[in-house]
Amino acid sequence: MRERERDWAGWSGIMVFAEFHHPATPDTPDGEFDPVTYELIGKARELADKTGQEVTCVVLGSGVTEPAKELLYYPVDRVLVYDRPELRHYVAGVYAAFFHDAIVAEKPSVVLMGATPVGRSLAPRIAVRFRTGLTADCTVLDIRPNGDLVQTRPAFGGNIMATILTKDARPQMATVRYKVMPRAERAERPGAGRLFRREITEPAALASLARHLKAVAVRSEERVPKAESISEAKVIVAVGRGVKSEKDLEMFEVLAERLGGMLGGSRPLVEKGWIPPSKQVGQSGRTVRPDLYIALGISGAIQHVAGITGGTVIAINSDRTAPIFEFANYGIVGDIYEIVPELLKVL
Ligand SMILES: Cc1cc2nc3c(=O)[nH]c(=O)nc-3n(C[C@H](O)[C@H](O)[C@H](O)COP(=O)(O)OP(=O)(O)OC[C@H]3O[C@@H](n4cnc5c(N)ncnc54)[C@H](O)[C@@H]3O)c2cc1C
Repeated sequence: MRERERDWAGWSGIMVFAEFHHPATPDTPDGEFDPVTYELIGKARELADKTGQEVTCVVLGSGVTEPAKELLYYPVDRVLVYDRPELRHYVAGVYAAFFHDAIVAEKPSVVLMGATPVGRSLAPRIAVRFRTGLTADCTVLDIRPNGDLVQTRPAFGGNIMATILTKDARPQMATVRYKVMPRAERAERPGAGRLFRREITEPAALASLARHLKAVAVRSEERVPKAESISEAKVIVAVGRGVKSEKDLEMFEVLAERLGGMLGGSRPLVEKGWIPPSKQVGQSGRTVRPDLYIALGISGAIQHVAGITGGTVIAINSDRTAPIFEFANYGIVGDIYEIVPELLKVL
């Protein structure tokens, strides 16, 4: 054990995997960072400042050197870029080899990744290579003065919050879902951070380029337009099992529309097929941080409220003992079928 601790002495810094979405076709310009990147940077900066460490972002992709300069407007110390044509499409083995190279070179104490499809695929591959722990879907992250990352996430079906430490390995790895942490502020000018291009030399990583799966063509799926994503909505009217029939949803849709928001809901309504899975709020659905969340006929199970990470919450429920009232900022005890029509009259 003592020997391992000595090994960690060289492990320092908070590394953020800055996931870049390439444009659909090579001739369309731009591309963008996954929005969770900016939230991870905010948290990384906070953890780094507490312990006197540096924040390094790692960017993998093709033609990403220019777009990566955007990250310098955020509170980062370094941006490490691997810019190669082979990194245009996400291929797990190749990305893992390159990210592995970054970690070997930098020896970060902490690695933060978004709980996106790419992050969820890449993070365990990296954790295995370093024989380290990985805590998925953290809801709270903190750091001790000795650099131990304190990772909190729901466990046992969300009924308890578990605090996890990666005590005997480095790097300490965590994934975080979008909208769980506040976003870092973009400065008007680039800060003191510096961008470095890194060429990979490790034979295993170079070999991975030839050996693994090759993406020959990528067809982009009909993507849900940004405004349609419930995670981005400023106002959410969420419905639960208090709704008696599918056709009644129309009334709640109208309420959402009048408030300039979107309709969301609890898992039972998704299971009934009344609302799509993309609109489910909660532990196994989306995490949201709207300005206003109106919960209608929702009991407030821990797995549901785990998905609401900010904003003002108003609950309407006929049962005054419903747990949602413990969570909400404002509560109305009453029947949604009486109160919502009244609200619509006013609106
Ligand atoms: C591993 C796991 C993951 C899960 N993930 C999620 C998740 O992501 N999201 C999620 O939502 N759930 C999730 N669940 C399910 C969760 O535990 C609850 O079962 C679910 O959230 C309950 O949904 P509900 O509040 O709509 O229904 P209920 O708990 O049945 O509550 C209905 C509420 O409506 C009220 N009501 C009834 N009629 C009226 C009326 N006319 N006017 C006003 N109020 C009325 C009732 O008083 C009651 O409080 C998960 C469960 C597990 C085990």
